Amino acid sequence: HAKEKGKNNFQFFTVELNEVISRKMMLEKGLRKALEKKEFKIHYQPKYNIKSGTITGLEALVRWDNSEHGIISPMEFIPNAEETGLIIPLGEWILYTACAQNKKWQDEGFLAIPIAVNLSARQFQHPHFVDTVVRVLNETCLEPRYLELEITESITMNNVSDVIEKLKLLKSLGIKLSIDDFGTGYSSLSYLKKFPIDSLKIDKSFIKDIHNDPDDLTIVKTIISMGHNLKLNVIAEGVENIEQLMFLEKHKCDQVQGFFFSPPIPAQEFSEFLREANSNK
Ligand code: C2E
Ligand code: MG
Ligand code: MG
Ligand code: MG
Repeated sequence: HAKEKGKNNFQFFTVELNEVISRKMMLEKGLRKALEKKEFKIHYQPKYNIKSGTITGLEALVRWDNSEHGIISPMEFIPNAEETGLIIPLGEWILYTACAQNKKWQDEGFLAIPIAVNLSARQFQHPHFVDTVVRVLNETCLEPRYLELEITESITMNNVSDVIEKLKLLKSLGIKLSIDDFGTGYSSLSYLKKFPIDSLKIDKSFIKDIHNDPDDLTIVKTIISMGHNLKLNVIAEGVENIEQLMFLEKHKCDQVQGFFFSPPIPAQEFSEFLREANSNK
């Protein structure tokens, strides 16, 4: 191993790089077959109203459960799925599975809440995207108001009038729209006025140190008040402790999501949260 060869940094680097490349190749090869092998799973994370503490929605987050390598994070494989185009069939599978699951819970008598699905820019840009969403809603019999689409500022890299047109179409169907990872992108704030969105999700990087970094607190307060002035619902992601929660409550954030409440979990376990919500009604 290069490490034993002393200070040969170049060689050490080469070995590390080879490991990175071979994992990347393994992922690429495995990813192509993962969909037909049914290796993708969806986990669900609850969102809460900060004032009432009631569950207000949930987010679908995909995982790749590979027989050889275990659970692989979307941060690792989504970029590759985007490059190869796999994100189109995979994204449709995620959308379908999430909508079908939400409808199933409603049919079982649980509280009806919107399910949020993350979208890649490439998926959103696809010419058949809106048709696919409409078809999935029809096939799963989920009412559009129980679907929320989480987009990122990266979609604004493309023709903005096309983006607005698509968002308006989705909105007119009754689907909810939110901007994810808000504050990390490069888009102009003027888009917030032009986009028919319902919610802003403050990126978790700003929440992390909100209780002891005055700069982060300033940013979060600014996003909340701007969001409210624009009549948007503001949600904080990545809430991990009570201190963060108390700051967010004090500064009138509307909703919260994070490990403090629950990590993303399989559907079966998530049913327990819904059962609890039903019993509190
Ligand atoms: P995101 O949509 O911003 O999702 C939030 C991420 O933060 C999730 O990571 C979630 O598990 C994690 N998280 C939740 N609460 C906490 C917390 O309290 N602390 C910390 N440190 N993290 C928390 P995950 O599931 O690994 O997903 C990462 C990203 O991958 C997502 O960020 C999203 O951009 C993308 N992604 C996940 N699922 C999908 C999908 O179905 N489609 C697409 N296109 N992208 C997806
Ligand atoms: Mg998200
Ligand atoms: Mg996010
Ligand atoms: Mg994201």
